[in-house]
Amino acid sequence: MISVEQHLERILATVKVIPPFDLGVLDAQGCVLAVDVQARGSLPGFTNSAMDGYAVHAADVTTASPDSPVVLPVVNDIAAGNTKALSLATGQTMRIMTGAPMPHGADAVVPVEATDGGVVKVEIRESRGVGAHVREVGEDVEAGNVVLRRGTLLGPGQIALLAAAGISRVRVVPRPRVVVVSTGDELVEVGRTPGFGQIVDSNSVMLTAAVTAVGATPFRVGGVPDDARTLLDTLEGQLVRADVIITTGGVSMGAFDTVKEVLSRVGTVQFDKVAMRPGMPQGFGVLGEDKVPVFTLPGNPVSALVSFHVFVAPALRAMAGRPEPSYPPGYVPAVAAEPFRSVPGKMEFVRVVLDDDRARLAGGQGSHMLGALAAADALAVIPADVSEVAAGDELLCLPLLGREGQ
Ligand code: AMP
Ligand code: MG
Repeated sequence: MISVEQHLERILATVKVIPPFDLGVLDAQGCVLAVDVQARGSLPGFTNSAMDGYAVHAADVTTASPDSPVVLPVVNDIAAGNTKALSLATGQTMRIMTGAPMPHGADAVVPVEATDGGVVKVEIRESRGVGAHVREVGEDVEAGNVVLRRGTLLGPGQIALLAAAGISRVRVVPRPRVVVVSTGDELVEVGRTPGFGQIVDSNSVMLTAAVTAVGATPFRVGGVPDDARTLLDTLEGQLVRADVIITTGGVSMGAFDTVKEVLSRVGTVQFDKVAMRPGMPQGFGVLGEDKVPVFTLPGNPVSALVSFHVFVAPALRAMAGRPEPSYPPGYVPAVAAEPFRSVPGKMEFVRVVLDDDRARLAGGQGSHMLGALAAADALAVIPADVSEVAAGDELLCLPLLGREGQ
């Protein structure tokens, strides 16, 4: 039996960051930059007004006050989108809108609130200093400067900066493409009514959703029967589009454990017993010329989802250039709301409902129990050397993907 840490270490030592690729900025959302990015142009690209108001020579309005306003003729209107270069003579003003280019010579904007809002002539009731309400060229970003560093995770804000800085395609670590294959003669496709002895292939749907939730791209192959030839052909056929393959089922000690049978003959998948519950039978290795990492997860749905969170998600993040800061990654503290037992010698992943930081059992803990799994917000991680948890004990919890906000 190996420990959870040992198994994860072997996985993380094997997987590699996916080679960089150019993507359109929108497709790059959620990806990590593979290069430093320089701005093509400055931001703002031209000096413009930060307010709706009147462009002035500040020197013309130094004496303006509510009791003794300065009156100026309004010689033009400048809207955002105005592309004509204008010049403002002293002793005059132009009405200007937010984001509109400042006329040459003007050095301040008097907000409309500090005037009578006139359109032919305007009463300026407050003075404004040089530079007031003016956005200078390049004050945000200077052309040629590095605006985003390699390794930056691209969210909406970073994508906006790229777009504004004139960059429509960007070199990133692409999302890992993950093929999901479930195995078992008992499986029927989701939407079909299972006959006696059959079950719906919920694992491939669950794992496809988990792949999406972690920011990778899933390809759901669905259920493959427990037939060695069919399974091998399927796996080999999928290698061409896979950065990772996940299988479920067929890795226990049963008579028809096809995944184990097939992958013991090809590739480097090593089948181990990992000291955890649920999820003890685990396999990991590489397959094919391109050494595609293969995870063979157990068939029981809870075991498969726990295994995904503990082993597959960290690997996918690492392949996407998002290494985990440390192990255990992303865990949140909580307090046990009730006592429960845990098997000694195994790291236990207990499905819990989180009420703020209070964790209570989500229901039956059987590894086939989807009802309790669906009620859960997180997995409370009970170390191997703990056999009893008392109410009030501190726990570390791994939030379930997609339930972080619950
Ligand atoms: P196995 O590891 O193939 O022996 O499967 C263990 C248990 O998980 C059995 O009860 C299977 O019916 C169940 N199981 C296997 N694959 C799936 C799947 N794709 N969806 C739901 N349950 C499954
Ligand atoms: Mg099976």
